[in-house]
Amino acid sequence: MDVEEFMNNVIAKNPGEKEFHQAVREVAESVQPVLKKNPEYEKAKILERMVEPERQVIFRVPWMDDNGEIRVNRGFRIEFNSAIGPYKGGLRFHPSVYIGIIKFLGFEQIFKNSLTGLPIGGGKGGSDFDPKGKSDNEVMRFCQSFMSELYRHIGPNTDVPAGDIGVGGREIGFLYGQYKKLTNRFESVLTGKGLNWGGSLVRPEATGYGATYFAKEMLKTRNESFQGKTVVISGSGNVAQYATQKVNQLGGKVVTLSDSSGFVYDPDGISGEKWDFVMELKNVKRGRIREYAEKFGVDYFEGQRPWGIECDVAMPCATQNEISLDEAKKLVNNGCIAVSEGANMPTVPEGVDYFVENEVLFGPAKAANAGGVATSGLEMAQNHVGLAWTFERVDQELHQIMINIHKNSWDAAEKYGYKGNLVVGANIAGFIKVADAMLDQGLV
Ligand code: NDP
Repeated sequence: MDVEEFMNNVIAKNPGEKEFHQAVREVAESVQPVLKKNPEYEKAKILERMVEPERQVIFRVPWMDDNGEIRVNRGFRIEFNSAIGPYKGGLRFHPSVYIGIIKFLGFEQIFKNSLTGLPIGGGKGGSDFDPKGKSDNEVMRFCQSFMSELYRHIGPNTDVPAGDIGVGGREIGFLYGQYKKLTNRFESVLTGKGLNWGGSLVRPEATGYGATYFAKEMLKTRNESFQGKTVVISGSGNVAQYATQKVNQLGGKVVTLSDSSGFVYDPDGISGEKWDFVMELKNVKRGRIREYAEKFGVDYFEGQRPWGIECDVAMPCATQNEISLDEAKKLVNNGCIAVSEGANMPTVPEGVDYFVENEVLFGPAKAANAGGVATSGLEMAQNHVGLAWTFERVDQELHQIMINIHKNSWDAAEKYGYKGNLVVGANIAGFIKVADAMLDQGLV
């Protein structure tokens, strides 16, 4: 297959969706060796079919703010691929959301979900609604309006959304309440639910823990561990919070956290009561990370990202394209030996190439952050049998899934001549399973 010609078609059909183009190009390039070895995939136009979502829903979300003013947002749900299970993927509420963001995330989700080893297809959704600065009542009214349309497109065996940026436990609660009111059914239609109403232990921790377990596996290949390592983390939301906790538990020291306004640098490490402070600040008070610097008397860098801080391991846990090529170079120059992507597509493609060329242990998002959706899969499994597993059991399953994803990605890379390149390995391992399922199911 001629990748340039393929990409020209994708770009012409999906104009202006640059994040989607970026995600597709990486997969298209990675799977070339597989297509060469298996001409049946090309003959069946598997890749051409994969880049076209099975279904896309775009809808109006009207709601009323606390001043009685009517507001209108746009809602999205992209049901991308159901070859191996019901569509599954989060909802993102952020002002930057447009179709290109949702499609990049939904496309990535197909391969990520395949890597987990669980029977879940790929989807993603969200809205350009900005929860920042909104009251709880405003967020509730927005979620209710959003679900008033979404409910007719989802279901426990059809499409099971979860959280993402701007959608945490509070939003999932409001969304679930409205779904139940509209359908009169208490069922496993969302994951990330509260513990009293069908949620799973470890789901809040899962993405951050998983990205850390993945980094642990990568470090092991060089006889290294987190013990005594300095770790730079971006973001201070769900993924960053629990990555920080797990790194601390494994003997590392997290020295930065950030939000979209800037980052804090705490050379003594963010743990114990300092970590508790972050949890309260971000999840209850919904404040800014700057307040951490004020409280503990450390440096705050307004409008900057943390990649210039010296570290052994970097974990981007905020958003897409947050590590530029220059920042990748800075990290390598400062001695960073491993990067585990907690966020989705946080490193620009040139940065990914730079890490790989410089033999940095690099865990690409669709492998490294798959622990979140994997644990969502475990939440669905518990809901289906009406049981709740212990923390230890879910954590053990999550840990084993991350070990398997690392091994399968490593083995696939080696098999196709890219030893140690987990970007290629994860794409190939994720792709083959979905491609084979599509072949089995015929031209649908
Ligand atoms: P949260 O909303 O809990 O936190 C997001 C964090 O990233 C906040 O600190 C936020 O700062 C920061 N951030 C968001 N957008 C930007 C931006 N444009 N520039 C700089 N900083 C930004 O989201 P999550 O922690 O859930 O998600 C973080 C990343 O992890 C995303 O890429 C998401 O897709 C990915 N992910 C999440 C999973 C999950 O289970 N939650 C699963 C797999 C991947 P601010 O508050 O200022 O906006």
